[in-house]
Amino acid sequence: MKKVNLIIDVARCHDCNNCFISCKDEHWDNDHSPIAVSQPRHGHRWMDILNIERGKYPLQDVCYLPKPCMHCEDAPCIQASGDGAVYRREDGIVIIDPEKAAGREDLAASCPYGAIYWNEEKKLPQKCTMCAHLLDQGWEQPRCSHSCATGAMEFVLLEDAEMQQRVEAEGLEHFHPEYKTRPRVWYKNLFRFTKCHIAGSVAIDYGLECAVGAKVTITHQKSGEVWTTLANNYGNFKLDGFEKKSGKYRIDVELNGITKSCVFELTESINLGVIHL
Ligand code: SF4
Ligand code: SF4
Repeated sequence: MKKVNLIIDVARCHDCNNCFISCKDEHWDNDHSPIAVSQPRHGHRWMDILNIERGKYPLQDVCYLPKPCMHCEDAPCIQASGDGAVYRREDGIVIIDPEKAAGREDLAASCPYGAIYWNEEKKLPQKCTMCAHLLDQGWEQPRCSHSCATGAMEFVLLEDAEMQQRVEAEGLEHFHPEYKTRPRVWYKNLFRFTKCHIAGSVAIDYGLECAVGAKVTITHQKSGEVWTTLANNYGNFKLDGFEKKSGKYRIDVELNGITKSCVFELTESINLGVIHL
């Protein structure tokens, strides 16, 4: 049986909030019983967008991570509900029953992703429904992915084995795999959010000229693993995807036979500043 999956590309999200707004438009002041009743006008972010700033000026960057309910296969919210107040549909979508879950504020704390919000007015826990009411009417995707102009979200209906092939071919990952909940939401380029970069600038002629094309080699002191890149037209370089707190690295910079080296400790994204050749 084909089941829902949402693939989110962290590298393509620009925090425009279209997905959040379309979710709000679909679910505020609209009753989609028995899938969901109206969410409050303020407070709930069924499609939340996390952000992280990495590195130091002028080579820092900001990354965004859209975070809906993960529609987990091993869902702690279903286990916590105990009586069918939260259930999984055949297509994999996890739904909070608006009648059975009335008064169950405890369910909000059961989700490790913080995806369940408490509706104080209705005394009801609520969350993303993957727009199940629209899919049931024949829509091919939920409002969030439909409204994403950058293609950062892709909704797919696939057999689990087919999805696994995409996971392996495209290097898709789960956010917080340590929760072990087997989400149906997958991330591409997740390293942009969870790992760190090494950046810097290279200059020649006493700092007056950018060292365009300088070869930058980074070597992990313990494992010997090596990464290389070239300085761009502004003399800047950036290598990404390093584990935080991963120990000591050596950097070697070379242009026209002139070299410079140093060793540094990597704890989080770093700007090594201007390296003068
Ligand atoms: S609509 Fe797309 S680009 Fe905009 S915030 Fe959502 S995921 Fe990111
Ligand atoms: S992300 Fe949270 S609310 Fe969604 S299915 Fe998993 S445990 Fe339940």
